[in-house]
Amino acid sequence: MKCPRCRRGPMFTNNNPWNLKKVFSMPKRCPECGQLYEMEVGFWYGTGYVSYALSVALCVAIFIAWYVLIGMSTTDNRVFWWMGTNIFVLVVLQPWLMRLSRVLYLYFFVKYDPNYKQTEAIKFDYETGSYDGPDEK
Ligand SMILES: [Zn+2]
Repeated sequence: MKCPRCRRGPMFTNNNPWNLKKVFSMPKRCPECGQLYEMEVGFWYGTGYVSYALSVALCVAIFIAWYVLIGMSTTDNRVFWWMGTNIFVLVVLQPWLMRLSRVLYLYFFVKYDPNYKQTEAIKFDYETGSYDGPDEK
């Protein structure tokens, strides 16, 4: 998972999301281009929505796969196996989903900049309350 601005710098200091003590350990800035990751105080609260959307999408995908491959019936326990499998997959993938939602959330605000060495990093403007790119001024 790379920095959205330069697509080179790593966003997490530990590559394994299942190392739960370090699941959110990120450098303050991108080591490659200097982009600030947590752009304002509480920036990561918005990732809750992304994480929720990802989880719902995953549940729908599991349901469709189960319906096509195994099928549903009211006469046996397959529906409970589906629920159990769904919960298991969600729990196992949760650390990865949490990271993915941080990355996707930052991608909403920070666009890829091929000239990142010459331009300034995107930052939050506390006076106007907007995320300003170097090109918009
Ligand atoms: Zn970067």
